[in-house]
Amino acid sequence: MLIALWLLVSLALFTALAYVNASGIAWAAAAAVLIGVAWVAALLPPWLTLALALALVLIAPVLLVPSLRRKLISDGILGVFRKILPPMSQTEREAIEAGTVWWDGELFSGKPDWQKLLATPLTTLTAEEQRFLDHEVVELCEMVTDFETTNVHRDLPPHVWQFIKDKGFLGMSIAREYGGLGFSAYAHSQVMTRLSTHSGTVAVTVMVPNSLGPGELLAHYGTDEQKRYYLPRLAKGVELPCFALTNPTAGSDAASIPDFGIVCWGEHEGKRVLGLKVTWDKRYITLGPVATLLGLAFRAFDPDHLVGNKDDIGITCALIPTSHPGVDIGRRHMPLNAVFQNGPTWGKEVFIPMDWVIGGQPMLGRGWRMLMECLAAGRGISLPSSGTGMAKLAVRATGGYARVRSQFKTPIGKFEGIEEALTRMGGNLYMMDAARTLTATAVDLGEKPAVLSGIAKLHITERARQVVNDAMDVVGGKGICMGPSNFIGAAYMQLPVAITVEGANILTRSLIVFGQGAIRCHPYVLKEMEAAREADRAKASLAFDAALTGHIRFAVTNFARTFVMGLTGSHFVGVPANVAPETRRYYQQLTRFSAALAFLADVSMGTLGGALKRKEKLSARLGDILSLLYLSSAALKQYESQGRHKADEPLLHWAMWDAMFKAQNAFEGVLSNFPNRFMAMVLRRIVFPLGRPYVVPSDALGHDVAKLLIEPSATRDRLTAGVFISRSPDNPVTQVEVALAATMASEPVEAKIRVALKHGKLDGRLAPGAGVDALVARAREAGVITAAEADIVLAARDATARVIRVDDFAQDLGAAEMRVARVDPTPLAAPSSQVAHKAAA
Ligand SMILES: Cc1cc2nc3c(=O)[nH]c(=O)nc-3n(C[C@H](O)[C@H](O)[C@H](O)COP(=O)(O)OP(=O)(O)OC[C@H]3O[C@@H](n4cnc5c(N)ncnc54)[C@H](O)[C@@H]3O)c2cc1C
Repeated sequence: MLIALWLLVSLALFTALAYVNASGIAWAAAAAVLIGVAWVAALLPPWLTLALALALVLIAPVLLVPSLRRKLISDGILGVFRKILPPMSQTEREAIEAGTVWWDGELFSGKPDWQKLLATPLTTLTAEEQRFLDHEVVELCEMVTDFETTNVHRDLPPHVWQFIKDKGFLGMSIAREYGGLGFSAYAHSQVMTRLSTHSGTVAVTVMVPNSLGPGELLAHYGTDEQKRYYLPRLAKGVELPCFALTNPTAGSDAASIPDFGIVCWGEHEGKRVLGLKVTWDKRYITLGPVATLLGLAFRAFDPDHLVGNKDDIGITCALIPTSHPGVDIGRRHMPLNAVFQNGPTWGKEVFIPMDWVIGGQPMLGRGWRMLMECLAAGRGISLPSSGTGMAKLAVRATGGYARVRSQFKTPIGKFEGIEEALTRMGGNLYMMDAARTLTATAVDLGEKPAVLSGIAKLHITERARQVVNDAMDVVGGKGICMGPSNFIGAAYMQLPVAITVEGANILTRSLIVFGQGAIRCHPYVLKEMEAAREADRAKASLAFDAALTGHIRFAVTNFARTFVMGLTGSHFVGVPANVAPETRRYYQQLTRFSAALAFLADVSMGTLGGALKRKEKLSARLGDILSLLYLSSAALKQYESQGRHKADEPLLHWAMWDAMFKAQNAFEGVLSNFPNRFMAMVLRRIVFPLGRPYVVPSDALGHDVAKLLIEPSATRDRLTAGVFISRSPDNPVTQVEVALAATMASEPVEAKIRVALKHGKLDGRLAPGAGVDALVARAREAGVITAAEADIVLAARDATARVIRVDDFAQDLGAAEMRVARVDPTPLAAPSSQVAHKAAA
């Protein structure tokens, strides 16, 4: 009996020490005390107690004295580690090491410091940025319709291009000293979000010069002369930039581009200068067909050793005016029927002087690192903003539509089936917007959050796709028939572009989020890898030992915390006192997930090693857990920063339960497929000792969310803040807004009529073909409603009729009408439109 108690106390004590990440001395002292107790109380046979004491005396110094530990343990492990460490190419290394670690580090720590997140102020707009959003952005939206740009102009009309250039849209992220607007990342995101709620073509056109491309690369790596010359020209749209990386044989695997440049002497502007003879074949290049300045990535070679002693210098970025002889550019792709400018470019043995290399000769071969560094920040802004914009449009317009469109005498938004779709739309958007805002804040804080920007790009565009797909189902045929009054079809068509670019989503999920996250966010893995690569043996030994001991303690504490929090439902986890009480439990649950992720990641890396890289399905699910932790913490942050609105609670609760359930499924997916089945069984008992506790959000909660989407409210306005609502009565979103307001006003009046019909105060029998008018007139005559109320019902009827109308065209699908409607007299063929742009520039 006593021995069982002693064993139990020992187990509890060691678990507690592990839980609090106690020092080695504390562990040794605890072991000594337990052995002492066993000896005094004669709990064990004397030989066994003595053996335990001897083991402690022998092992403790080895573990506690660093020089002994290194000699006897960690140096040996270092040797093995060096052998099994998977080989990493220079480009892989640069990709993994790019950017910085921010809140993702906390999420991977097993013990996130929530106060740190809560204390981070989200970026807000300056008065000037707000003015730009309210005026220039609105004006730009009013100038175009997506249908017309797509079907009539096949491009933005020249006056819209000019407006974009004149108002500085192309230089939002260029510093003021160079004539740009110098906007914050958040302001940039707000602009992109609003534009994306209205026109994909405008959004992409503005997005690209402000994203990864010449402007960004010059700002960070350009020579002073390059900056002074190009940045003011880019800011004012005198130059239209594009950036060409993708080659037919190198898409996702962009580091393998076969495009090359040979360092050589050549003739430029009548002088013999050092430069490169470049050959390239690129495709999919956004703004390429109209660009005046081609940013080009290629691999530089120096066979004659004119600039050093290396043959293969590496990926290099240069800026080439498209008017330069040999540059072929101007033809267009047609990306899912969208008409933003996109096309191929090629050139053969085109000589460029060395000072066209971004950053000049010293930056030869540094292109990949430059691109990865810029991507680390940029990927977190453009596509997350456009995805959120499209989702905002979908939620705002579809929610209204679901209220004004009735079938079976009921607004379709009140059917449970439609409610399910609306619920997903609202909950997803809440989380997407939160993640977008938090990621922009990180960039504004000076971070280059490589992992978080990958998460934001992947998950926001993925959720946008789900939101827009749901919207398509809700609006039915109205979403399918294209025309000026279809508010969702264009977003549905164009979303796959956001899924594919800047790291296609499958690749990002399978390879990048966890692949990069586990190395960068883990507090010790990168340090171990760096130590293993260190040539100086003494330095390597010291560094590896420090990282390894930290790593072991980290793993042990996460094991204990995962198990204890699983047993106790994490009820005892400390949470900052200042969080909203209704969200307290979420912080505790997320802390549990964080510890379990860190623990499972260590076990996976420890047991699978380099093979984990090929086990993309496992890696993707581990990445999903990290991503869901990020999205959830962003949602909690948003709830706090927006002022804990009681009315917004359903959105937050639904999003959080959905995320926790998905995270649990991701854990389950890892455990069910873990190659070592015995290990999987043990892991399951540690991660879910009492089974899987998380359930899907309830239908009742879903009902509350859906209800928020189908009637006007401050919550609906907050959720869809930034959606462009046109002044034009012909705009389909404006029409939904008008119809929704009219329907809300009409519903109580219609209820009066229904009551009168039910109680026989009104004769509901109408002549065949008689519509609402007749019944309303009868109700008015019978004194059931007033004349003003009759007008309200009829106005709602008319407004709804406008909303449910779909466009129809002549036999030739309106080609003739469109030709008449064309305001731009230039033919549709691309090269001439390019000429027009160049002339305008
Ligand atoms: C409209 C549009 C605009 C673009 N704009 C530009 C631009 O301005 N400049 C530029 O340089 N490029 C641009 N691109 C190119 C874009 O970045 C690439 O399309 C993208 O990198 C994917 O390459 P890919 O299309 O060749 O697909 P592939 O690389 O062939 O990929 C096909 C599929 O395989 C998946 N995949 C690939 N490798 C893995 C892996 N290891 N594990 C799991 N899945 C994997 C991908 O996720 C994808 O789903 C644009 C593309 C489009 C469509």
